[in-house]
Amino acid sequence: MLKEIQLLMDKLPPKSIRGLSCDTCNIIYFTYMITDDVWLSIFDNLKGYCCLKCLELKLGRELTIKDFVPTPINFNIIYGMERGCE
Ligand SMILES: [Zn+2]
Repeated sequence: MLKEIQLLMDKLPPKSIRGLSCDTCNIIYFTYMITDDVWLSIFDNLKGYCCLKCLELKLGRELTIKDFVPTPINFNIIYGMERGCE
């Protein structure tokens, strides 16, 4: 699975020109990590970087806590979701 993810990541622009703006709607978003299953399910439909709202549109459903990797970078998102924040 990691090799497959790395092959997909190689298709993205190099880190030096990556921004935190969504390539679909241009809003600035916080970095997050989604699970491999979610990532692979939308990758063919993904063009560049994606905010959470655009990610939900590509998924065709709302994100849930289980879609995020339990890692510190996601703690604010998970904390907010557990308390019903959008
Ligand atoms: Zn967006």
